[in-house]
Amino acid sequence: MKALSIFLLLFCGFTPLIAQTHFCCTSSSDQEQGLERLKRNRQNILARNRDELVYIPIKFHLIANDAGQGRLTYEEVMVLLCQLNAYFEPAEMQFYIDFPFNLIDNSILYDDPVSDTGQSLIPDHLVDDAINVFIGRGLLLPPYGSFYAVEADYIFVSNDASDGEAPAHEMGHFFSLAHTFRGWDFEDIITTTNYQVPPDVPSEFQPAELMDQSNCLETADLLCDTPPDYYFAASPLQDDCEEWSGNTFDPNGDVVDPMENNLMSFFSNCTEYVFTEDQNTAMRLDYDSPERAYLQTGYTPAEQIVAMPPNLLLPVNEATNLPPESVTLSWEALPGVDYYLLEIDEFSIFLDPISYVVNGTSIVVTDLAAEQEYHWRVLPLPEYQTCDLDYSPSQEFTMGLATGINPIEAALAFTVQPNPLLTGQGLQFRLIAPSAQVLTARLYSSTGEVLAIWKDLRLLPGPQIIEWPVALNSGMYFLQLANQDGHYTQKLVVQD
Ligand SMILES: [Zn+2]
Repeated sequence: MKALSIFLLLFCGFTPLIAQTHFCCTSSSDQEQGLERLKRNRQNILARNRDELVYIPIKFHLIANDAGQGRLTYEEVMVLLCQLNAYFEPAEMQFYIDFPFNLIDNSILYDDPVSDTGQSLIPDHLVDDAINVFIGRGLLLPPYGSFYAVEADYIFVSNDASDGEAPAHEMGHFFSLAHTFRGWDFEDIITTTNYQVPPDVPSEFQPAELMDQSNCLETADLLCDTPPDYYFAASPLQDDCEEWSGNTFDPNGDVVDPMENNLMSFFSNCTEYVFTEDQNTAMRLDYDSPERAYLQTGYTPAEQIVAMPPNLLLPVNEATNLPPESVTLSWEALPGVDYYLLEIDEFSIFLDPISYVVNGTSIVVTDLAAEQEYHWRVLPLPEYQTCDLDYSPSQEFTMGLATGINPIEAALAFTVQPNPLLTGQGLQFRLIAPSAQVLTARLYSSTGEVLAIWKDLRLLPGPQIIEWPVALNSGMYFLQLANQDGHYTQKLVVQD
């Protein structure tokens, strides 16, 4: 029964557990809604503008258990989207991330999304301007199970299936496609026939598809360039994606030759899965249909390819004595990238990092431990070009004492006043120096470029106001003061 167990590894699995629910792949009738649209959409086939690439938003709901553990990593989400877009390139359909990610910590949704409790939790999270894709472990689904929920119109992908073809398969259902073997989906023919002469009628409502294409518009997936498939993937004779050699005849007596590597089949472990041209057209027509109007945003995501990870700016590498109350981390902006993943870990291997998804290129972190060494790195999270992303090389810094007697902070803590500044105003900041000393002041742009350096900033003991007559355009800046003990950085904003 090797083939049977392997077929269960794929796509939306077939199991008595979820046979009563309204999910794809649990009964043939679940696909009928999409097929009704497909039939109607076919009337519009000539009206379609075939040259127009469309961009479709996905809201990712990333589910962890109650303790916040087990969530698919952001890096894996990027890989999922990269692969999904490769499958959909021929359809001229591309997906982009509708930020921010929705993080859900719920053990039931995580492992048993089709339970009553699981289903009751879903509506709270659905958004109405993107395709809702939930990702969790799905332990109580069939192994590697994923599904498209017809009524509520969302996709669930299990963690283990996220880097395979399952997301594309479910997206096919979302855009009206049925299985290539529709009608045979859940027939118990695996053990009752040797496939030599299958019954003429696989189910009560449709005839077996014929090789001569004479009934392809009326049966199975209603598409003619997907040849008949009598669910051979489930046969004990079948091994993964090998060409079907069951020598099966259709009701006309013609030898049936299915398309093993079709994304809407159940054949497993194919090296290259594809949609056919008719499937691509059907999906594009479904995208253009009134039911999918909410996805027709007209938005074009930034297309710049992120070739390099961002440079890390602050704190400078191997900085010491950072104030535990708050550490500002910043990095260089990449063109077209708004979101970044920041990871901070005590160990350089980032085994269990503290993660922040940051909208922008800096963040103030306030919960790090005193006197602890940390490593940090940044992964760009582009909304669309998510293939082959790299983390920045990691850097390290060490926190100072927790008791507020951190010497660098005591010496250099300062406030910029006023903040925000107005353009044309010089830079003015107040500080209290415990002793006379010489500092270096640096002014950074929001992208980390050094705009100005004041090398011998001489401080007197006690409170004082320093004026630095630099001309600044509106925007965000970082002002850093440094001596031999370390440095201290403040963000400042200049407005028109
Ligand atoms: Zn399916």
